[in-house]
Amino acid sequence: MQFSEIDLHCHSLASDGALSPADVVERAASNGVKVLALTDHDTIAGLPEAQAHAASLGMQLISGIEISTQWRAYGIHIVGLNFDPEHEGLRQALANQAQVRRTRGQLIAEKLAAKGLPDLLPAALALAGRDTPGRPHFAQAMIDAGLVKDQNEAFKKYLGSGKAGDVKLGWPEVAEAVRWIREAGGTAVIAHPRKYDMTLTKLRALIEEFMAAGGQAIEVVVSGQKQGEVGMLSDLCRRYGLQASLGSDFHSPGLAWVELGRIAKLPDTLQPVWQDWGLALPEQA
Ligand code: MN
Ligand code: MN
Ligand code: MN
Repeated sequence: MQFSEIDLHCHSLASDGALSPADVVERAASNGVKVLALTDHDTIAGLPEAQAHAASLGMQLISGIEISTQWRAYGIHIVGLNFDPEHEGLRQALANQAQVRRTRGQLIAEKLAAKGLPDLLPAALALAGRDTPGRPHFAQAMIDAGLVKDQNEAFKKYLGSGKAGDVKLGWPEVAEAVRWIREAGGTAVIAHPRKYDMTLTKLRALIEEFMAAGGQAIEVVVSGQKQGEVGMLSDLCRRYGLQASLGSDFHSPGLAWVELGRIAKLPDTLQPVWQDWGLALPEQA
């Protein structure tokens, strides 16, 4: 297989990746990547370091982010690409969102304490690392404290729908994240559309709402795809006039099938998400 020289989805230490932004750029370059977007979860904190290192290697770095959103009962990831990372509205929205998540963590801890549990916030914070603590972290904290035997019991008793720790406050709507990205001059992309355990009918409904909000693209080529998936996602691009993106979703070394630049090229019948970015692409004369 001929690999893509473009990888528009990966993570660094700024979110849940294992490598520093500079090391991600370095590794991508040595894997033959010419154009890279760093798309950390809900933060652009890694971009300056990645940008500086990419410049020193002569690699093109595209600004990126992967925003956690909600749509109906689903957690949907929206990738933003090629936006202005200095845009005040975007920076403010991300800062507010981080604050909402921190407040939610405190609220979950307080509600659990009111049910007679010990204060689980410090443990949940420690488990979350650079992330903000969510229900899976609280579930793990309960297991570690011997309060429940597994995640299943934690959710059934304390964290699941309608239970004390089910604090709704949380993620932005898909349309809101799309608006943040668009207002900062970027392109909004539905990340890994087949990873949501969603019927095709639901996926179409999501795409229609996403496009109505200004969303422009979906990821067509991602790591570890099943047979037929690229064809199916390509059909959706053609049907809706969506642009196509691609990315490895690399987080850490050691998984041969999720590695920087180790993804197939986009089918050349599709409109690539970078078509209007004015990239100097080595593969295009
Ligand atoms: Mn991740
Ligand atoms: Mn994701
Ligand atoms: Mn990701």
